Amino acid sequence: MVHFVGAGSGAADLITVRGARLLEEADVVIYAGSLVNPALLQYTREDCEIHNSAEMTLEQVLAVVKAAEAAEKTTVRLHTGDSSIYGAVREQFDQLEELGIAYDVCPGVSSFCGAAAALKAEYTLPDVSQTVIITRAAGRTPVPEKESVRSLAAHQATMVLFLSTGLAEKLQGDLLAGGYAPETPAAVVYKATWPEEKVYRCTVETLAQTVADNGLTKTALIIVGGCLGTEYLRSKLYDPGFTTEYRKGSDS
Ligand code: SAH
Repeated sequence: MVHFVGAGSGAADLITVRGARLLEEADVVIYAGSLVNPALLQYTREDCEIHNSAEMTLEQVLAVVKAAEAAEKTTVRLHTGDSSIYGAVREQFDQLEELGIAYDVCPGVSSFCGAAAALKAEYTLPDVSQTVIITRAAGRTPVPEKESVRSLAAHQATMVLFLSTGLAEKLQGDLLAGGYAPETPAAVVYKATWPEEKVYRCTVETLAQTVADNGLTKTALIIVGGCLGTEYLRSKLYDPGFTTEYRKGSDS
């Protein structure tokens, strides 16, 4: 059995209770060493066999899993944040299906949620944006043209950009050309929820400069949108006049 486990965005105590239990029980752990906090390995048994996938290919990962299966061992494949976001898990799932190896998935706190916590932000703010676009700038890994940052920017929704700090200058140009006003609030969150977390607030116009001035190259998210500003409407849900399934409002 293979358990894909979301490690959470950084802090070792942000893994789910289920994820921590699976780590405690694992015979073999393959963790994404480039981003997973090594402190999480403290949850494993002393005799647990540990591999760092940052130094491995997909084939090597599968070889470790196959050997563990042959020995009737349980494997945890530990991915950073939540494995559904840029986790390269689908190719592993499909190979395991083909090999007839059972697996399941335990979700984790994605770094975009960790960043919202660091910013004390609500991404879906009434009258500002009810949509969160999770995307990345096109670099060595291409992005389908129909999802270019420039075209997505037309919505002026809340946008969270993964894997894009190294491309900040081009990104800023695309955000502006696509439709965000230069003064739109933005932020760069470095190592959200890690002890060394840093938050840099700026605007779309000063984004590339902020990234450059602070030497931010990786393990950072860029967040753009009016939700980081000061203007919004209060929610309907908690409005005294608004009736819900659970509460009768004064207007009805
Ligand atoms: N599955 C992960 C994302 C993996 S892609 C998740 O759900 O968060 C790797 C990228 O995620 C990094 O380049 C960076 O852009 C972002 N990232 C991961 N952890 C981060 C953190 N703690 N703080 C800021 N960005 C992070």
